[in-house]
Amino acid sequence: MKPPKIDTTEFRDHLSNVTETGKRIWIYPRIVVGQLYKLRTYFSWLLLGFLFGIPFVEVNGGPLFLFNVIERKFIFFGVTFFPQDFHLVAFGLLTFIVFIILFTVIFGRVWCGWACPQTIFMEMLFRKIENFIEGDYRAQQRLDAQPWDTEKIVKKTSKHVIFFIISFLIANTFLAYIIGKRELFSIILDNPLNHISGLVAIVIFTFVFYFVFAKFRELVCIVVCPYGRLQGVLLDKKSIIVAYDFLRGEPRGKKKKVEEQPNPLEELKALANPNANKGHCVDCSICVQVCPTGIDIRNGTQLECIGCTACIDACDEVMVKTNQPTGLIRYASLDGIEQGKKLSFNLRIKAYTGVLVALLGILAYMLITRSDVETTLLRTPGLTYQEEKGNVSNLYNIEILNKTINAMPVSLRVKDYPSAQIKLIGKPLQLNKSDLTKGSFFIVIPKKELESPSIKLKVEILSNGQVIDEVKTSFLGPME
Ligand code: SF4
Ligand code: SF4
Repeated sequence: MKPPKIDTTEFRDHLSNVTETGKRIWIYPRIVVGQLYKLRTYFSWLLLGFLFGIPFVEVNGGPLFLFNVIERKFIFFGVTFFPQDFHLVAFGLLTFIVFIILFTVIFGRVWCGWACPQTIFMEMLFRKIENFIEGDYRAQQRLDAQPWDTEKIVKKTSKHVIFFIISFLIANTFLAYIIGKRELFSIILDNPLNHISGLVAIVIFTFVFYFVFAKFRELVCIVVCPYGRLQGVLLDKKSIIVAYDFLRGEPRGKKKKVEEQPNPLEELKALANPNANKGHCVDCSICVQVCPTGIDIRNGTQLECIGCTACIDACDEVMVKTNQPTGLIRYASLDGIEQGKKLSFNLRIKAYTGVLVALLGILAYMLITRSDVETTLLRTPGLTYQEEKGNVSNLYNIEILNKTINAMPVSLRVKDYPSAQIKLIGKPLQLNKSDLTKGSFFIVIPKKELESPSIKLKVEILSNGQVIDEVKTSFLGPME
């Protein structure tokens, strides 16, 4: 028997939530609390705690994470990165992109369904509040259709006020990721006139988040998100996606009652197995009703699917009620469904995982071996050398970037040249935390020890007796 095919005439040439004339269709998803929904709820509590808490966590007096794009200062796990660490940031970004691509090729949109802040906030926070205030999907449709009576005004106003307050909290947290909690608190507690730009940023972010979660919703995933748009090129028949097992499910349809069979022979066959001529899908359309992007997963993978697993829970519930095995909609690859194979850790997944582990290993090595300070040493431009009392001296400018969050005193020493002296101009060098320190000094060498008019030197930077950096330079002397 030929395997049944998905009816491709079902496929659309327009988005699921837009009519053919381009009008937005508002989606009222039904909520089914199944196993995966419960797991996603617990996981979302963890993620929400993480998202709201992280910008307020400090380690050794500095933030744990900071993404200050305005001042080009980035902190990951308490480690500060400067423009001088560009190679690390570039490799980190490269690793991140490869990771995203390989992860998606293998696991599809697991990120979107389980961990993306848009999905977490929308489905696990705003949607739940909406359901709590306005009732389930049917009640919401009724409410939207009814005139603006007291009930509608009260419910809509309270919902939008709460949405706005949560958007305000998200905007503040978002800003804390960029400018840090101390700066955020000073904007909140200080005279507002001193922080006009910060306050304007909070107001703009609040309105943007409110608009996204109150109105724009699934369009973020379908229209705006670049990762969502990339799915079409990243997914293939081996990718693990939320998929409908059409071999098992088709031909779909309501199960016939035995007495409805056309003749006695058919009736006997039907008595033996009433659903022999049907697939497992009872065509109840609950999988469509629960979908927050309004698609029918039975039509195959579609760009709107965010992998939220709501249809898996919904269909499993139907399967249990109709005494059929669960998993008609499940995590599976298209190949797996067509060939009836279960998910396995196959060679492709092993190879991709190997590449990822290697990239992450290299990145970890680069981060661990990153120097705490970065020194730039230049002979002062326009000067050659000075000669005095049998000594030759050169003037240098030094810049030392302290990448740590600890202040430290530093001293300088010329390596492998015991007779060379360093004479600092001004105060001893002191490195402030996460800051650039500048200074000038002379290197003085007895003239008789100079072997040529230009020699190469190495200057060591020491802190508490330990060499923390080393730089090369040249030293000029007279022609003999
Ligand atoms: S929920 Fe399951 S049984 Fe119902 S229509 Fe969807 S796939 Fe078919
Ligand atoms: S098709 Fe299923 S997994 Fe995809 S978005 Fe809709 S409900 Fe979520």
